[in-house]
Amino acid sequence: MDNPKQHQQRVALITGAASGIGLQIAHDLAEQGAMVCIVDRNGPAAEAAAQAITAAGGRAQAFVFDLADAQALAAGMDALLARVGQVDILVNNAGIVSTTPARDVTLAQWNTTLAVNVTAPMLLTQRVLPAMQAQRWGRIVNVSSISGVRAGTGRLAYGSSKAALIAMTGQFAIEVAAQGVTVNAIAPGFVDTPMLRSLHGSSKASTYQDVCPMQRFCSPQEVSAAVLFFCSEAAAFITGQTLGVDGGYLAS
Ligand code: NAD
Repeated sequence: MDNPKQHQQRVALITGAASGIGLQIAHDLAEQGAMVCIVDRNGPAAEAAAQAITAAGGRAQAFVFDLADAQALAAGMDALLARVGQVDILVNNAGIVSTTPARDVTLAQWNTTLAVNVTAPMLLTQRVLPAMQAQRWGRIVNVSSISGVRAGTGRLAYGSSKAALIAMTGQFAIEVAAQGVTVNAIAPGFVDTPMLRSLHGSSKASTYQDVCPMQRFCSPQEVSAAVLFFCSEAAAFITGQTLGVDGGYLAS
């Protein structure tokens, strides 16, 4: 049984933590004792998230920068590491989605989607790995998607990016496994967050529920629980894996 405050001595960085799934993960890791770095481009929402966690007795700081911009990311990480020292847990959660039909996806859409969903996780992972390897403990969790495993209409850029994130998970995992650092991925199904609502509003809710064997949306809490498992001591021997949190979608 893991200690409920098992991350007391640790710093966790969660991208996209001002909203939806990332916000839930930030709250849950703070509850387990971690000092949480909320990285997001939405400054007011990131500050509000940090304040809410602090008000609940946790420790959190907001860091506002655009993950699509590699220079801003590097400068943002300089500032973050100067403030907190090092990162012990990295959750690459931020992501963007679009629904453009495959033949109409522009180069700009493609590049931006890959920048946020693939390149930023790669750069952040490279940045935090040396300290994790030196201390022989680290946890990296990448939030991919069922779209990275199964094709869906209008998901050319998004699905390709999420598949790349799954491949990247394995690539990093095998190179750092011997130093006690695990790298795993989550592939959520349809999660009730602002992203899902921005895609289809509530009008298509029944469609999603029909294709999910559990016939309901996933909650941010259910995704966060899987992320927390990968961060725990119980998962110390699990690396390079992708866990579907999808109510049976990929099995159907
Ligand atoms: P969300 O839109 O509610 O939150 C995403 C957060 O990321 C926002 O706070 C946003 O400001 C931030 N963000 C986006 N682009 C950024 C950038 N360039 N720089 C910094 N911050 C940026 O989304 P969500 O539903 O919570 O999704 C979180 C992750 O889960 C994403 O990677 C998404 O692809 C994945 N996912 C979501 C679902 C779903 O149904 N909601 C399903 C599968 C996977």
